[in-house]
Amino acid sequence: MEILNLSIKEIHKGLIEKKFSAKEVVEVFLERIERQNSKLNAFLEVFSKEAKEEAEKIDKAILSGEKISLLGGIPCAIKDNILVKGKRCTAGSKILENYIATYDATVVKKLKKEGAIILGKTNMDEFAMGSSGEHSAFGETKNPNNLEYVPGGSSSGSAAAVSAKMCVFALGSDTGGSVRQPASFCGIVGLKPTYGAVSRFGLIAMASSLDQIGLFARNVEDTEIVFLAIKGKDKRDATSWEKEEEKEIPPTKMRIGIPRECFGQGIQKEVIEGFKEAVFLLEKEKIQIEEIEIPSLQYGVACYYIVMPSEVSSNLARYDGIKYGKSREEAENLMELYCKTRAEFLGEEVKRRIMLGTYCLSAGYYEAYYLRAQKVRTKIANDFKETFQKVDLILTSTSPTLSFKFKEKLEDPLSMYMADYLTVPVNLAGLPAISLPFKEINNLPFGVQAIAPPFCEKKLFNFGKFFEKLC
Ligand code: GLN
Repeated sequence: MEILNLSIKEIHKGLIEKKFSAKEVVEVFLERIERQNSKLNAFLEVFSKEAKEEAEKIDKAILSGEKISLLGGIPCAIKDNILVKGKRCTAGSKILENYIATYDATVVKKLKKEGAIILGKTNMDEFAMGSSGEHSAFGETKNPNNLEYVPGGSSSGSAAAVSAKMCVFALGSDTGGSVRQPASFCGIVGLKPTYGAVSRFGLIAMASSLDQIGLFARNVEDTEIVFLAIKGKDKRDATSWEKEEEKEIPPTKMRIGIPRECFGQGIQKEVIEGFKEAVFLLEKEKIQIEEIEIPSLQYGVACYYIVMPSEVSSNLARYDGIKYGKSREEAENLMELYCKTRAEFLGEEVKRRIMLGTYCLSAGYYEAYYLRAQKVRTKIANDFKETFQKVDLILTSTSPTLSFKFKEKLEDPLSMYMADYLTVPVNLAGLPAISLPFKEINNLPFGVQAIAPPFCEKKLFNFGKFFEKLC
């Protein structure tokens, strides 16, 4: 079988049985990047030299009889808002164009320790704000399944890279759906872990109470392997946490809740039909399906677009054109300095959110917007908690629409924001969720989302492996 198509365990087996070397594996993927990237613009930077050197180290270790871990020699990619020491980290923004990371993010450190090989950094919507990959300062990423369509966002490059087999897995970040939605648009698996399950140390913050590092892979088993390698408490991230999962349930014994809201207003007809088909498939397997109602889900987007920009306005205040990236411009006064830096080097969407957030937090409006949104957030989290008394997992389509064409939603931020309708409630409640590829509709991939209680990723993997076999 061609190396590009192998799973992590298959590559591992090939390496230890010396069917191929880690260097050969890396070269195959680098060649693939070389051929695909000019068309897709998934990678912003490729580390060919270092990747080959790291692969040689793995080969030496194997030859000397050392035991290598499952991720040893596995080529991966990292979203460009996660720090890799000594490498540029732009977060898709002009303002960080020449910012070099001075340390490794905890997740990167963990992957390096396992021997995973970082092939490069991937493109993204600026500061992870967007649902289409069109908001990058370094050009849009194309969907490998159909070049006229968006790959989703904001982890556009990571999704496209995995989907186009330019790497085995890739890290992304998910604040409101940025791993799950592009996974669904690109026909691959995308995991957003429980808030706190994976350290955020070294992730460029967007909205800290919602941000979570997640990952893309082409099957559920690979996703689980990478998650186990990157998860865990980290003394450098006070919100990170570790918790034993409650009892395991075999997928056939799971009770699956289907929210009525998945069939309502704003959900594309094709998506409703595709989703019904997935539910039907599960029913055929005698899985217990229950129709449920979580009315507060419909307030998720409104709530998110107050909480998130409020945190953005605070987190992005550090990009003042003085401390990071772009070298300081000459200016007569502070206002002129701002005009020469933030005004010029931040994109329209980023500026829109900073202004929205500043407004929501300002005296006189704080109670009406921010405080109220926080109350809605608590209500959403409580409603999920109550629902999980009745069901083990909740199933929805990942996105309310299939992928759309470039420029289709660019001028209409509200319709772009609605792309997050089914994913943001999960971030607001801090839950884990996975997007699983199901089928193609009108030649575009379509994925479903399974949501679990906090720290129940194992449930998602067990269900995902079962569902994968049905497709
Ligand atoms: N599309 C959402 C937004 O633009 C989600 C972003 C994300 O998860 N980083 O805010």
